[in-house]
Amino acid sequence: DSTHFGFKQVPTDEKAGLVRGVFDSVAENYDVMNDLMSAGVHRLWKTAMIDWLMPRAGHHLLDVAGGTGDIAFRFLDKVKGDGTVTVLDINHAMLSVGQDRAIDQGRLSGLDWVNGDAQSLPLPDKSVDAYTIAFGIRNVTDIPLALREAKRVLKPGGRFLCLEFSTVEAAILKDVYDFYSFKLLPEIGRLVAKDKESYEYLVESIRKFPDADRFAEMIVEAGFHQVKYRRLSGGIAALHSGWRL
Ligand code: SAM
Repeated sequence: DSTHFGFKQVPTDEKAGLVRGVFDSVAENYDVMNDLMSAGVHRLWKTAMIDWLMPRAGHHLLDVAGGTGDIAFRFLDKVKGDGTVTVLDINHAMLSVGQDRAIDQGRLSGLDWVNGDAQSLPLPDKSVDAYTIAFGIRNVTDIPLALREAKRVLKPGGRFLCLEFSTVEAAILKDVYDFYSFKLLPEIGRLVAKDKESYEYLVESIRKFPDADRFAEMIVEAGFHQVKYRRLSGGIAALHSGWRL
């Protein structure tokens, strides 16, 4: 187990460049904004993700779009430090914040920070026990390609889990949620992070993302088995699971 503090830079497509810019500008405020915008609920969703993953001691997790390390840290806590996480993200600034948090929390082993793209993972075939991606896949230009890459790097018997914003179904919740995301959220972004555009991008990317059934089909199309999902908080988010056989 080791912690690497070097980054490897990879070439990316145009949307990836744009997304990188958005996260460059939000990295510093990212964790505070997450708590503020979701009233802390993102923490419950992330815990639900790790609970459903049921990681085992000695497992190697690849956490794609791992950002500031939330999923990686929960995984290491769950396996009591007996495991390895490769935290992969396209954005250098997000990874730097994550590394600082790791040091502050005294996490000195089991973490490998890699600057890379979900669409061309710098990992060998069949090399990881689990693949997670939390609030990352909707930012990816070619989602089917990212899903195929996930399958490629997973060992047979390996687990894929994706946490992402989804579609709110109940009419009353939908009205509240629409008001919140179209009106309030960009204002919070403007006032607190001084960056309205990035938060408008965030809302737009959530709206464009496929609903839970369609996304489950895409996971099947990428070659995963036993694909299932759970809605969280009335469908504001969803957790999708699949297995590589
Ligand atoms: N997983 C973290 C969490 O849940 O707090 C961070 C989520 S953040 C909303 C989205 C992350 O996806 C950003 O750190 C961004 O840099 C990363 N990202 C966007 N496109 C990516 C890509 N093509 N490959 C890898 N990471 C990407």
